[in-house]
Amino acid sequence: MPEPIPIPPLFLERMSRFLGDEYPAFAESLTHDPVHGLRVNTLKLSAGEFRKFSPFPLGDKVAWCDSAYCLLPSASSPGLHPYHLAGLYYLQDPSAMSAAELLGPRPGERVLDLAAAPGGKTTHIASLMQGQGLLVANEIKTKRLNHLVVNVERWGAANVVVTNETPERVADHFGAYFDRVIVDAPCSGEGMFRKDVRARLDWSEQMVAGCAVRQTNILRVAAHLVRPGGHLLYSTCTFAPEEDEAVITRFLREHPDFEVEALPQLAGFMPGKPEWMGEKTISKKQNDELRGAVRLFPHRLTGEGHFACLLQRKDGPADELTFPWRSAKIPTLEWQVWQAFREETLGLDFPSGRLRMQGNRLYFVPEDVPDLKGLRMTIPGVWLGNFKKERFEPAHPLALYLRPGQAHNVLALSSDSREMAAYLRGESLPSVGRPGWTLVTADGWPLGWGKRVQGVVKNHFPKGWQVYS
Ligand code: SAM
Repeated sequence: MPEPIPIPPLFLERMSRFLGDEYPAFAESLTHDPVHGLRVNTLKLSAGEFRKFSPFPLGDKVAWCDSAYCLLPSASSPGLHPYHLAGLYYLQDPSAMSAAELLGPRPGERVLDLAAAPGGKTTHIASLMQGQGLLVANEIKTKRLNHLVVNVERWGAANVVVTNETPERVADHFGAYFDRVIVDAPCSGEGMFRKDVRARLDWSEQMVAGCAVRQTNILRVAAHLVRPGGHLLYSTCTFAPEEDEAVITRFLREHPDFEVEALPQLAGFMPGKPEWMGEKTISKKQNDELRGAVRLFPHRLTGEGHFACLLQRKDGPADELTFPWRSAKIPTLEWQVWQAFREETLGLDFPSGRLRMQGNRLYFVPEDVPDLKGLRMTIPGVWLGNFKKERFEPAHPLALYLRPGQAHNVLALSSDSREMAAYLRGESLPSVGRPGWTLVTADGWPLGWGKRVQGVVKNHFPKGWQVYS
């Protein structure tokens, strides 16, 4: 057995200094296993409905997130279950679920997740917006993008656009366009030490200082993206005050048009700790404001470590920002091909004003979608499929956008059947019935496509998503 990676002693020393009497309980909590949570995709079903047929033992509801449960340790491989592949839930640390709830997005708003991969907050925000309005999920690192795209596609939300840009270029493009912006910043990850051994190895005081510089820069850029009266949520999964209260303090000094909006101190939350910064020059007003942030600790609640602070840009005249999409209309031939496919295969319609072509791909885009030209972009909406000469081939995200009962041709499999395992391995399945595009379902939940030809459903489950076992 390899030696366990220790928690850095200097980190513990710092925490002992910060927490005082609470430190022993905190140190003890670090010896426990991490807590895992399961957040139900409320675009597809309610948390209560999921609980009734959950294949895993679920514990208590997460106190600050109505759609989530704590997973009991006996839950085995929930990430590999067909329900996960069908986008019925997202696995996430319960504390991380606080951020989207505290951001408070509403249906119909324009929301930006500036540091989005792998998509935990994005999927949560999409559900809270009920798939309405616009949610731009941006990730700077191309190698982290695939995870984000897969999670967004699985979620089946009709209001998400994914971009792959620097914050600066996002700000240059949109300006003060968004009602709400979340900066879930890259950080030293102290709050993840129980579950992330890498974070323990990488940690140092120099790293904390480096993260603080990067966070300050990202937040400075994010300020340009918030409309007057709009909100900006800054969150990290670290306890270091240099990366939390100190970043906010610097931001407030530079941005007199922003103020802290005090967050609710929910079950077990701790208010922001301006005194941990050791700054002597902080005013009473700033001190009071910083106490409106929240800190989540593993010894106070069921979850890992997190920090969040909500800022509001003062109201003022907003620029009239519109970005009409300039792409060409769908040519007549493609339009007819799509309509023929839709009538034959799907039991739902898509408003024609929200269909866009990009190359030979057809997308269902968010209502009021802005022009995204010039941005490095991966997906402008739900990828419906590709035109191939005079045929239309449906894409996997279309299957995941569908709800039970929305396809004419279905191959209904039980989630724990041998056929399901074979489908997820990429195998074709014998099946009699109407030929053509067939939606494969897991206990009724849309999972992917197959094409029935002469008594066999050929497998169209994407290769990268297949489960090999
Ligand atoms: N919000 C994500 C979620 O809930 O799944 C987690 C985000 S993670 C804490 C921070 C993200 O910031 C990473 O995906 C990382 O690639 C990105 N990042 C790193 N450096 C950045 C920078 N300079 N500007 C913007 N984002 C950056």
